[in-house]
Amino acid sequence: MPASNIAPARGRGNDAPDALAVLHAVFGLSGFRGAQEQIIRHVVDGGNCMVLMPTGGGKSLCYQLPALLREGCGIVVSPLIALMRDQVAGLTEAGVKAAALNSTLSLEEANSVERRLLAGDLDLLYVAPERLLTPRCLSLLGRAKIALFAIDEAHCVSQWGHDFRPEYIGLSVLAERFPEVPRIALTATADELTRKEITARLGLADAPQFIASFDRPNIRYDIVDKQNAQTQLRAFIRERHAGDAGIVYCLSRAKVEDTAEALTKAGIPALPYHAGLDAAVRSRHQDRFLNEDGLVVVATIAFGMGIDKPDVRFVAHLDLPRSIEAYYQETGRAGRDGRPSTAWMAYGLSDIVQQRRMIEESAGAEAFKRVSIGKLDALVGLAETAGCRRGRLLGYFGETFAAGKCGNCDNCLSPPLVRDGKVIAQKLLSCVYRTGQRFGAMHLIDVLIGRLTERVRQFGHERLSVFGIGRELNEKQWRAVLRQLVAMGHLQADSEAFGALKLTESARAVLKGETGVMLREQTAGHDRPSRAKSRRGDLAPQPASRGTAVNANLLGVLRAWRSEVARKRGVPAYVVLHDSTIEGIAASRPGTPEQLRDIPGIGDRKLERYGRELIALVNSAE
Ligand code: ADP
Ligand code: ZN
Repeated sequence: MPASNIAPARGRGNDAPDALAVLHAVFGLSGFRGAQEQIIRHVVDGGNCMVLMPTGGGKSLCYQLPALLREGCGIVVSPLIALMRDQVAGLTEAGVKAAALNSTLSLEEANSVERRLLAGDLDLLYVAPERLLTPRCLSLLGRAKIALFAIDEAHCVSQWGHDFRPEYIGLSVLAERFPEVPRIALTATADELTRKEITARLGLADAPQFIASFDRPNIRYDIVDKQNAQTQLRAFIRERHAGDAGIVYCLSRAKVEDTAEALTKAGIPALPYHAGLDAAVRSRHQDRFLNEDGLVVVATIAFGMGIDKPDVRFVAHLDLPRSIEAYYQETGRAGRDGRPSTAWMAYGLSDIVQQRRMIEESAGAEAFKRVSIGKLDALVGLAETAGCRRGRLLGYFGETFAAGKCGNCDNCLSPPLVRDGKVIAQKLLSCVYRTGQRFGAMHLIDVLIGRLTERVRQFGHERLSVFGIGRELNEKQWRAVLRQLVAMGHLQADSEAFGALKLTESARAVLKGETGVMLREQTAGHDRPSRAKSRRGDLAPQPASRGTAVNANLLGVLRAWRSEVARKRGVPAYVVLHDSTIEGIAASRPGTPEQLRDIPGIGDRKLERYGRELIALVNSAE
């Protein structure tokens, strides 16, 4: 029996199907998360609203369930065709009558979808905005019974955001032409300006806003000192995410290509993705990433918004993003399914210098550059903090993190030592001053440590009083001090001379001893990841672990089975069953349909379709 038949009696009578029953029957889930229930009740009752939830927060259910519970078809406006396709595939798998209208359909296919809509044979219809705005489509909707309009990725109406889509502006027509149909706007972009624009454009002035916490508790934040980034990346993947799907971000196309090649050579299958590649190659790489298990994509930020893959287990940054907003958005592509995931970044002084130069050389107005530098500084502050990264991240978005320590970031798991660094800072700042504020990190450190290099001799720096005054620290430690002084704003990269560091106004006070400096200690040979690892066991569950109770052999068998089913049906593996469902089966080894039905992600339709096979696989496993 199609699952949507379970919810036929739409409306609000006593006999109306209860949201929880549909959640269980169709989606195989046992309860709501956060504000989902409240939102769903509000929309089922015919209300408009705006929903702000982080990626992976569970926005889809907020409109999918009301569409099933209300009379008529839910119309979902979605900007991305690939995303639509996967949503429709997932819903159809669960027995929901879903379809899409977009430019990839033939005339015949489109006609058939339109007939189904008019005949009341659809629960959910995904429509591209430009399609929806055609007179033909608006007239079609006028003749159909519509349960609700869901405007997904609603921040696309904002002209100030990076994802502006002019077609979204035209969506104001929905409020005018269909005032009685509830509208629900959804986004993961929370800033005030965007929120105002959504409200204005979509006619939501009187509608409630449901704003969830932007915390992504399943993401572990980890920011390491950049030394040899490629080697560090390989070690990170091997030690913590072997066999997992992940995204690696780099700034330049050349670096994307090099990194993908180096990973592949090291036995970690990786594909490049950047705007310089042929469109066909790009879409092939994206498809493979979505459909295959355990692939890594190395990309510039051109790769992102369309990526709805729930089981991305890590996002790695080899270069510093532009801002905390960008860092949050990019790292947020990890762990949409709520499973433990890692946001890992390797960062060094050259990153700050490079980003600053890019801003200073850009064509923007001065005011814009100042804002950009402020944003970069905030991110550097996050990278240099000795405190909880999550607290800092949420604080930036105006959210207070009550617990103070999250227990799931590198600094919480392995707190860095913080010491009075006044004398050390003074030595470094004096060295910058005495050498004329014209040199970069490498030379400054040579002078501090007292290395008689060619360059030192050339400038006669071995005769300066600062030569060799910093022998108590090694090169790596001095680099860390330098970075922190830049992050604190006592040193600044000179925009004129590439890589040169100069003193700022605040450096004077440090030199005079008026301002104290606390420095995060970087002990020689100290390697944060491995230290975190050795202590991880007693502090928090390891991100990439599959749980001890899981039978690894059975897990492998189930994954292979899923890949095969996905290939045959031409859908991504996670559309067949999510990782969490597969892991649930491997852990609890259900022997009966009832036991299988208890595993999250197994709804009526999936039980009917795969139940026997899954139980047989469990029974035959070693
Ligand atoms: P978003 O669109 O907000 O990024 P999704 O709607 O795709 O997030 O949901 C993210 C993941 O969370 C999906 O794997 C979904 O199945 C799961 N999920 C959503 N709501 C619940 C719930 N109430 N219980 C369990 N899992 C849920
Ligand atoms: Zn923390």
